[in-house]
Amino acid sequence: MSRDEEILKRLLENYKRPWRPKAADPFRSLVRIILSQNTNYKNESTAYSRLESSVGAIPESLAAAPIEAIAEAIKPAGMYNRRSVVLKNVAEEVLARFDGDLTQVLVMPYEEAREELMGLTGVGYKTADVLLMFDAGKQIIPVDRHIFRISKRLGIVPENAGYEQVRSALESTAPTGRHEDVHVLLIQFGRDICRALRPKCGGCFLRDLCPYPN
Ligand code: SF4
Repeated sequence: MSRDEEILKRLLENYKRPWRPKAADPFRSLVRIILSQNTNYKNESTAYSRLESSVGAIPESLAAAPIEAIAEAIKPAGMYNRRSVVLKNVAEEVLARFDGDLTQVLVMPYEEAREELMGLTGVGYKTADVLLMFDAGKQIIPVDRHIFRISKRLGIVPENAGYEQVRSALESTAPTGRHEDVHVLLIQFGRDICRALRPKCGGCFLRDLCPYPN
């Protein structure tokens, strides 16, 4: 087993995934991903529930709703003025391009599906990848700021590595069928132990494999 494989093996052994409800359909999932950007789970969850109960998180209701009503509902997630515009535009585009149903995109091959999703307002490669990992079961590992930092500290990728390089290094190392777990657990590890400031290297289960503390 390589050193990088050992790192991911230990990560999977030392952590349990927190249970989170799955969205009922890919559009709702996309709404939640958009609301979760730069927001913690609790605030995203509150904003999403408020949106569901006051406007509805389906393309038809979002497209028909006034921007102000969407903004008011999603206030707890922050950046609500910008996000409300994004959500309304995405809803209109999903209706126009996919007849309101993103399922047809999720069954496409990865690159094609990613391209289609990135054609939607506010959907970049990371948002597209998160949706394709969680809702289409693609064996990919989207990279957020925690995953960037950890991969570089551990020397899995060089310091100047970009999104695609980190993604492909992790994807080729992760055990089959565990890509989603690796994504979720690396983020958890980045919040708990390998924090941006003052990482807890002393008690870290990866310390003997990590060049960073030296
Ligand atoms: S030893 Fe420190 S820098 Fe290395 S992975 Fe653990 S917490 Fe992060």
